[in-house]
Amino acid sequence: MRTVYVNGDYLPETEAKVSIFDRGFLMADGVYEVTSVLDGKLIDFDGHAVRLQRSLDELDMASPITKDDLLEVHRKLVRLNGIEEGMIYLQITRGAPDDRDFAFPDPETTPQTIVLFTQNKPGLADNPAAKKGMKVISIDDIRWGRRDIKTVQLLYPSMGKMMAKKAGADDAWMVQDGFVTEGTSNNAYIVKGNKIITREKSNDILHGITRAAVLRFAREAQMEVEERNFTIEEARAADEAFITSASTFVMPVVEIDGVPLGDGTPGRVAPRLREIYLDESRKAAV
Ligand code: PLP
Repeated sequence: MRTVYVNGDYLPETEAKVSIFDRGFLMADGVYEVTSVLDGKLIDFDGHAVRLQRSLDELDMASPITKDDLLEVHRKLVRLNGIEEGMIYLQITRGAPDDRDFAFPDPETTPQTIVLFTQNKPGLADNPAAKKGMKVISIDDIRWGRRDIKTVQLLYPSMGKMMAKKAGADDAWMVQDGFVTEGTSNNAYIVKGNKIITREKSNDILHGITRAAVLRFAREAQMEVEERNFTIEEARAADEAFITSASTFVMPVVEIDGVPLGDGTPGRVAPRLREIYLDESRKAAV
């Protein structure tokens, strides 16, 4: 039985409740963050807090909590639930007005809803999937035009995941106008020679917190990074590919649309970046 956080209270998960009029439920009018926990500490908390504020600002939504208090809630949930390795999910919605209405409610009379819960994932860092690598398929990217805002509108990414499962793969890379945008819940990269290639930041992709850290570490390790569009054809012909996200860190991709990359096993670059990312992030964890 988890202890979760709802609007200022720490409660057993079975007692935590949100109104049926909540705009997160009725309209996907909410934003979220997922922060990983290693050694009982938060990975890249600051990056997630900054992106959360940006998502709220872009949607004209007030923040119901200060950054310091948010850190305290994260830490308390980790402590109360005894999390050594896992994730913390955070969601803020525009709250629950008295009735359903397309217009935003007045924030003075309708406070935002905030919920947080932990997900216990022992072995997250030592994930055997990282040794094997994952398979992806390509699908059309038909999401909305503000993917840089981390909203809870996750129906299409969820459908993409199911399309991948049905095809015997692990995830889907989405393609828009011939170019890969990102994975259903991760950023996408290919490696050609010594060059790491990933789409540049824009409204078309989520600005991954792991992406920012991994690109920084790659540059510090004298690896060449190119932020530009790439096609699925270029990806299929790449030496290596990988994804990044807060819950998978760096994960090698070994097959795209049934085509194995190289010899079909993780190459040199992705496993090395995973190691560097895990080492450095653990050192900086709070
Ligand atoms: N892209 C999408 C669409 C995502 O949903 C996510 C994470 O959920 C990411 C990228 C990776 O972002 P982060 O590294 O901040 O977890």
